[in-house]
Amino acid sequence: MSYLVLARKFRPMTFDEVIDQKHVIVTLQNAIKSERLANAYLFAGPRGVGKTTIARIFAKAINCAKGPTITPCNQCSSCIEINQSRNIDVLEIDGASNNGVDHVRNLREKLKYVPSHGKYKIYIIDEVHMLTDSAFNALLKTLEEPPPNVMFIFATTEPNKILPTILSRCQRFDFKRISQTEIINHLRYIATQESITIDEDALHLIARKADGSMRDGQSLLDQAVSFTGDEITGKSIANLLGIIDNEIFFRATDIIKKRDQNEALNLIDDIFVNGFDLNEFLSGLNEHLRNILIAKVTGSADNLYTTDAYAKRYLACSSDFSENDLLRLIKIASDTEINIKRSANPRLKLEIALLNMLRLDNSKRVDDLLDGIHELKNQLMASNITSAATTTSSPDVEKKKVSPTDPSAGSVITAIGTSDDEAGQNIQDVAEIDIVEIKEKWHQFVDDVKKNKIALGSFLNEGEPSYLEGDTLVISFGSRNGFHIKSVMKYAPLLETILYKLFNVHLHLKCIKGNAPSTDSRVMANYSENYLSQLTNRIPQIKTILEVFDGELVR
Ligand SMILES: [Zn+2]
Repeated sequence: MSYLVLARKFRPMTFDEVIDQKHVIVTLQNAIKSERLANAYLFAGPRGVGKTTIARIFAKAINCAKGPTITPCNQCSSCIEINQSRNIDVLEIDGASNNGVDHVRNLREKLKYVPSHGKYKIYIIDEVHMLTDSAFNALLKTLEEPPPNVMFIFATTEPNKILPTILSRCQRFDFKRISQTEIINHLRYIATQESITIDEDALHLIARKADGSMRDGQSLLDQAVSFTGDEITGKSIANLLGIIDNEIFFRATDIIKKRDQNEALNLIDDIFVNGFDLNEFLSGLNEHLRNILIAKVTGSADNLYTTDAYAKRYLACSSDFSENDLLRLIKIASDTEINIKRSANPRLKLEIALLNMLRLDNSKRVDDLLDGIHELKNQLMASNITSAATTTSSPDVEKKKVSPTDPSAGSVITAIGTSDDEAGQNIQDVAEIDIVEIKEKWHQFVDDVKKNKIALGSFLNEGEPSYLEGDTLVISFGSRNGFHIKSVMKYAPLLETILYKLFNVHLHLKCIKGNAPSTDSRVMANYSENYLSQLTNRIPQIKTILEVFDGELVR
């Protein structure tokens, strides 16, 4: 079966039939109407977006027996011959296969003869950037002194590879990628014409994979027909394209909702039997959970880029989980996505991750316990300061304050929030707040935010305080957390108020994508570790709790 069947069969014959690229078509039509034609055109743009198709329609429009016209008749011998690629005045040359100097010389020989019965001799050179430099130079000679009634239409996916001397002699048009919606609509139209049954899910998957190229979309539809016959579903396309079907992710969230351990293990078995890439599964699951979260937070499916049917299902799914549940699931999925790459036993990692996801209620209890630990921590710090306060004048204490790796340094800061007696004495210190102090109390800050707005606190928890720019606190989020940043910045005034209550300092907020500079976080990690070991030594129960729940103390 020929690969380009549908693309050929449904190739537009007139300007009106072309999908998109209106900016190009209007200008070309105006040139035809005003009879101001250039000698050379350059059509630049991605593959499969209509460059040679429009070149051919343009050629027909110029040479049509009823032309020049913006609506070539497709009935005169010129139009018919061009449609069949056998018109002697319109020559299509593939730069990729005819890139020799000889060929261009040959072409120049032919230019000596006037166009036979047409009005123009038109050379459509596809992939013109593939011509060798010497072929280009030979071509340039022709462009410098173009014979009358000769037109070149160059098409290229890589205009940057074309000599500036050629570029400067061409009228250039930049073609755009075709939108997913237009590709979907056109493929749906083709399917109807061809009596192919295809579901919306399959259309979306094909359009996504086509990545703006109508020709690729049509080729994929061709392949789908030869692969699955005339009834095409999302599932069969997913198989064909090696994409993991969305159904498997809905199955996963269903299993999590029902806390069905057996089904969870069956699911993982299926993933392995089907030979799915584990990273792809995890990133797909992440995307799936984010979609549910967005539906949950916004209460609508408007911001989801998916089919209507799936949008409805995401919205329905969102009522099965709390925002916290979803954030916890996303955390597990993201952590596993990172860790599984280094794991000697990825299957075990995935099983543990999924079983952990089933323990949503349990993990809530762990969260409560961690809150308890933080309370203990604060109490411990408060008692620390009471003993430290008796020797406030000691230079030893001052030194501790500036050393970020000293585990007890944080206690001075925390005491300000918990013990009013000491606060007055320490306010000046607080004014010179540094990032280590903020990092130390970040958890408390997030908790305070959660008391006001639980989702906001959870979003904030995905970020990390990175550094201070004057009185602006810069919080960095992972590169995929654009949605979080928006939500956080929306509530910046509220957050700044909470920051002020906690630190007695007016700070502004700024959110950035990407990772924090490493030095600070390394210092901080070290700091936390020291701090943790000191804390667990003093309160052995913490160690036990962490061991029992296989947990770790997070900053
Ligand atoms: Zn015609």
